[in-house]
Amino acid sequence: MTKPMTIKQFNKQFPDDDACLDHLMNVRYGSKFFCTKCGAEAKHHRVKARRCYECEFCGHQVYPTAGTPFARTRTSLRDWFYVMFLFCTTRNGVSAKEIQRQLGVTYKTAWRMGHEIRKYMGWVDGDDQIGGSGPVETDETFIGGRDKLGKDDKHIVLGMVERGGDVITRVIDSATIEGVVPHMVKNIKEGATVYTDKARIYSDLKREGFAHDSVNHMIKEYVRGPVHTNTIESFWACLKRGINGTHIWVSKKHLASYLGEFEFRHNLRKQPHLMFDLLLLAFPRP
Ligand SMILES: [Zn+2]
Repeated sequence: MTKPMTIKQFNKQFPDDDACLDHLMNVRYGSKFFCTKCGAEAKHHRVKARRCYECEFCGHQVYPTAGTPFARTRTSLRDWFYVMFLFCTTRNGVSAKEIQRQLGVTYKTAWRMGHEIRKYMGWVDGDDQIGGSGPVETDETFIGGRDKLGKDDKHIVLGMVERGGDVITRVIDSATIEGVVPHMVKNIKEGATVYTDKARIYSDLKREGFAHDSVNHMIKEYVRGPVHTNTIESFWACLKRGINGTHIWVSKKHLASYLGEFEFRHNLRKQPHLMFDLLLLAFPRP
């Protein structure tokens, strides 16, 4: 299966909390593993009425929810799984309002659930350099709008995307050479082909070891053969639709985790069936 999970499949695979716990245990620890107490390679059996499994030899107990956001909440495991399912199958993001409506929880709980899940989505893909096989498009954009007091509150985001590959975004302090180029040097392979617009901040990329070319948006030149920034532009469009449409306003503090959410979906777009379990694997082991 390489398609995203359907709601029908979700309901079938996760009918109740027990099924969710079994799945969590399986993904995080496997069915047979070395017991940390007795050292034996042991099967671990579910302990009734507890969220734990015990070693078949010494009875040592393992709690698969430990280290996850599910550990200390009263929200059921199935509700958490359902919200994760929404995050993995949506295109434009999941709002707290939507979670509140679908689960019947308070807005505060809904917001917190979304926030937790988003945080781990950003942890899924690593920081591997891009540009190894395809050209990289780089661009910067403004995200945000007005804060609660009506004050202008926009943030600059730098985006780097390899065509056919991964996207990397960073919240930056200024759209200057000093604010942008170090991120490019760090995240894009030396020697990679980089396409940008004509902005001055990109004027000296050849000196950084990139093969650079640009299109001139000022004179309405958007595509010249392979030179364009359409891939990053469509990522921005998706991100803005998501943030503007579902979240109304995102503070600078939380912007990075929203970016992580959209990166996660972009970078796993060819393997949507893996999203759910990769998210479970992103939780740190205790
Ligand atoms: Zn044991």
